[in-house]
Amino acid sequence: MNNYRIFHALGISREVYEYGEAILKDLKSRFEEIDERAEYNQLKVLKAMQDNQVNEACLLGTTGYGYNDIGRDTLEAVYASVFHTEDALVRPQITCGTHALALALMSNLRPGDELLSPVGKPYDTLEEVIGIRNSKGSLREYGISYKQVDLLEDGSFDFDNIAKAINEKTRLVNIQRSKGYQTRPTLSVTRIGELIKFIKNIKPDVICMVDNCYGEFVEEIEPSDVGADMVVGSLIKNPGGGLAPIGGYIAGKKECVENAAYRLTSPGLGKEVGASLGVLSSFYQGLFLAPTVTAGALKGAIFAANLYERLGFGVVPNGTESRHDIIQAVTFGHAEGVIAFCQGIQAAAPIDSYVTPEPWDMPGYDAQVIMAAGAFVSGSSIELSADGPIKPPFAVYFQGGLTWQHAKFGILKSLQSVIDKGIIAISDINEFITK
Ligand SMILES: *Cc1c(COP(=O)(O)O)cnc(C)c1O
Repeated sequence: MNNYRIFHALGISREVYEYGEAILKDLKSRFEEIDERAEYNQLKVLKAMQDNQVNEACLLGTTGYGYNDIGRDTLEAVYASVFHTEDALVRPQITCGTHALALALMSNLRPGDELLSPVGKPYDTLEEVIGIRNSKGSLREYGISYKQVDLLEDGSFDFDNIAKAINEKTRLVNIQRSKGYQTRPTLSVTRIGELIKFIKNIKPDVICMVDNCYGEFVEEIEPSDVGADMVVGSLIKNPGGGLAPIGGYIAGKKECVENAAYRLTSPGLGKEVGASLGVLSSFYQGLFLAPTVTAGALKGAIFAANLYERLGFGVVPNGTESRHDIIQAVTFGHAEGVIAFCQGIQAAAPIDSYVTPEPWDMPGYDAQVIMAAGAFVSGSSIELSADGPIKPPFAVYFQGGLTWQHAKFGILKSLQSVIDKGIIAISDINEFITK
């Protein structure tokens, strides 16, 4: 069957469509692997829901203090089952991923303690949480110091310097799984396990926490399966399945999660309060859909990598390497490419498709940034989205897509935009089309 007519009605040329189909032919076995992993994770989530006897009443919410909110408490038990942890905190009161990470750090560190990042610079927003960049309320202001050991040139762990950096003050180690907006490789869960083992060998009582953003359900195991004491993430990324309208989670050791709860609400109150309002049904249903939604996003990332790699653009990860998160970087080397790509993604959106994104001076960034997002949930990056700073190497970061079909269309639309702007010629793709 050939769906070209409907693609054409949405502005895709014959050549771009055929090129996409040619790329897809080579991806069949990769996609089968992804589907198989999604099947495993789908059943893992289902089993967690059944084991915890999720019932219809769990989908309702509470108001006010939220005492005895069985839906909230059961959902937290479900998360703990999925991640194989003792406990979990999953709340709409956790406003975003940065908040979840800050909460995990601030609640488990005390004045005089030291935080270590053994994988280089953390995600941008954490610089202010930690106090790498001066900021009000940072860990640094509370007398918590910070050490960082960068990855080696080839992306491997600098074990010698990690060992040297661990001292009597080291209380917590933060390992970021995803590369975020850096060029280092994303860490596989297996590699994270090796790092945790190394660290625990030197100091058994240190808390190993993993920033799990964009990594959930990409593999069959999670960092909590290989020794992490806490895994932390955002519900408007993978585990919210596109349905959660807000929220974050912390899953881990009982004591770590309790500390976080006392910090989120209040000492003495902890997990007992925090009304779930009306969000529980979307939290449950989103988690239920998360494995297949993540699989669709992953296929989109792999499709984009192959589509642009064959045209000679730099792509990270490349078209064939194994994946540990859903982010795809494409390097254009010039601003026009980044802008055209993002405008194509925007034009593919279900919401706000008719607006044209432009680079702007976003607070907190040292260069202009362009963002494409036509999402049902504002800022959601499990939905089809892309952004790129307007500075060398002029790379665009692409992620998400609630369905594989939509991700595919978005990527074709980005390529169409790149061609329409004259950045590459139709003749460049014609040579790859096998009719
Ligand atoms: C998205 C992300 C964060 C921060 O999450 P926000 O919801 O944007 O605050 C932190 N770390 C990593 C690796 C991320 O991808």
